[in-house]
Amino acid sequence: MLVLEKIADFRRERARREGTCGFVPTMGYLHEGHLALVRRAAAENDHVVVSIFVNPTQFGQNEDFGGYPRDLARDLEMLHAFPNLIVFTPTVEEIYPHGFQSYVQVEEVSQGLEGERRPTHFRGVATVVAKLFNIVQPQRAYFGQKDAQQLAVIRQMVRDLAFPLEVIGVPTVRESDGLALSSRNSYLTPEQRAAAPVLYRALCAARDRYTDGERDAEVLRAAMRAVLAAEPLAAVDYVSAADAETLRECEGAVSGAVLLSMAVRIGRARLIDNLSVGVD
Ligand code: AMP
Repeated sequence: MLVLEKIADFRRERARREGTCGFVPTMGYLHEGHLALVRRAAAENDHVVVSIFVNPTQFGQNEDFGGYPRDLARDLEMLHAFPNLIVFTPTVEEIYPHGFQSYVQVEEVSQGLEGERRPTHFRGVATVVAKLFNIVQPQRAYFGQKDAQQLAVIRQMVRDLAFPLEVIGVPTVRESDGLALSSRNSYLTPEQRAAAPVLYRALCAARDRYTDGERDAEVLRAAMRAVLAAEPLAAVDYVSAADAETLRECEGAVSGAVLLSMAVRIGRARLIDNLSVGVD
């Protein structure tokens, strides 16, 4: 395992490696969800690059950039066993040097859901991922379905700007009680952690209604809200039943693939989760 901080050092090392490169961008504080992406990348490529970079431009003014959990030593320990791995750990100055002024804005698919509540978030995500793609030059890049809108934004960017790589979505890894793994779960107190599986229960309730034949978008959203309302520690930011392709909110009868998703605050953690229905 090689750990590199500088773009120039990374490029020198990357140029020496032959075969296909699989890339997993992360913000660190790794967990089994991240490792599922790394394992998939390792299985499908000759070598793997993992980036660890808490990207300031994707955090809003009042969000948790400063307090975001960081533990590089622990992250490197978790990645130790993977062969042919480069870990790229740039500083903020390396990615955003003095005078930086170029940003990538993916328009429509960035606008609803998370984008509506976090207006500058996907501009930051698209910008850093575009820059990392240019540095890493992977053949394949791996993203979690946990962040479904992020995956959609990256797919759109890759299509629109002709990045020469394949984007691969990896299923969400969950705890045994259904809670999606997330670095932000570390913010939860034991009592809040016990309440947190309510997101997955709410998603499953809507999925079950869908499986039973319910197609009214508002009824599906109401099924999620009803489960969340029974948990006093859960403060709902939004629940959504959206077209899985465009991410536009569904009205009336749904058809085709539908993304059921939500953001819920529990204590100081803002948790997001999703499930898709109507997928072949
Ligand atoms: P993050 O470090 O939170 O920016 O996440 C880095 C990558 O890991 C993103 O593509 C996420 O979607 C993915 N990821 C995060 N949590 C999970 C999870 N529970 N299951 C699968 N992928 C995940």
